[in-house]
Amino acid sequence: MLGEFELIRHYFAAAACARSGGEVVLGIGDDCALLQLPPGEQLAVSTDTLVAGVHFPDGCDPFLLGQRALAVATSDLAAMAAAPIGFTLALTLPSADPLWLGEFARGLDEMALACSMRLLGGDTTCGPLCLTVTVFGRVPAGQALTRHGARPGDLLCVGGVLGEGAAALPLVLGEQKAEPAVAEHLLARYWSPEPQLALGEALRGRASAALDISDGLLADCGHIARASGVRLVVEQSRLPLSPAAVALLGTAEAERCALAGGDDYLLAFTLPPAELPALLEAGWPLWPIGRVEAGQGVALVDTAGDEIRVTAHGYTHFG
Ligand code: ADP
Ligand code: MG
Repeated sequence: MLGEFELIRHYFAAAACARSGGEVVLGIGDDCALLQLPPGEQLAVSTDTLVAGVHFPDGCDPFLLGQRALAVATSDLAAMAAAPIGFTLALTLPSADPLWLGEFARGLDEMALACSMRLLGGDTTCGPLCLTVTVFGRVPAGQALTRHGARPGDLLCVGGVLGEGAAALPLVLGEQKAEPAVAEHLLARYWSPEPQLALGEALRGRASAALDISDGLLADCGHIARASGVRLVVEQSRLPLSPAAVALLGTAEAERCALAGGDDYLLAFTLPPAELPALLEAGWPLWPIGRVEAGQGVALVDTAGDEIRVTAHGYTHFG
């Protein structure tokens, strides 16, 4: 039977992503990790918890779970325009199953390397399966992108095609089947979303507000509207719908996924219009989908500019 410390050593301390270096002066093995930030930089910190049966199905592939747990947490660094440093992992496990741990650690390690994230430490306990990932990043003082800088006249943009996370859900839960190419694409988007770290950094000093879409476009736009004291207008005709979601679910349902489905982990941001041409020219993936106005709340409008009533805005716990 694998003991706690043997488990930590074998699966986590020995992982490639657990090596010190960069800002990580001291990693796993002591009471704390030590980070050294370059002068003039601020530390960005965010925590995400994934609970079995709520955020992922019981019995799902541990390799994919490792990838997804780190990707969704790292996406918060992208949203703040922070450069990745590393993460801690608080792991609660029903048992120390070597097969499960090996695959989970492999998925985590692959995503960590893809995102330039180092494993800094964590905690390992016994109980119902639950993961908490805390991510750390760095950003030049005053240059983080927050939710509160949007101004009337700005454009509202997103960093990719919307709705794929939500469209993938029935496939993830085994409630629906799809053509192999469509299923493969959507499942990959769900299990290994790519945090838009490079886009976030490119938006530093340009975007006026940003976040990553985790709960649904309209719900998340509501956060920017509230924090900035403005009204966000989303033009239905400009939504970049996912071809895979349309193929699987049809246009109307793909649109619902784009507006109110969660799990996309793409950036949504507001941008003074003068900033748009240079970003497009540089080839950044971005789609203007609306604008910022004086007022409050989020409105969805049709091509005539008339407001469309929507019932579901996104996902909330306890809701
Ligand atoms: P302490 O008792 O001082 O809190 P622990 O015994 O919990 O420390 O952990 C020993 C070391 O292993 C620490 O450096 C901790 O950060 C690290 N660690 C524990 N669990 C994990 C994990 N799941 N992943 C990575 N590092 C871990
Ligand atoms: Mg200690």
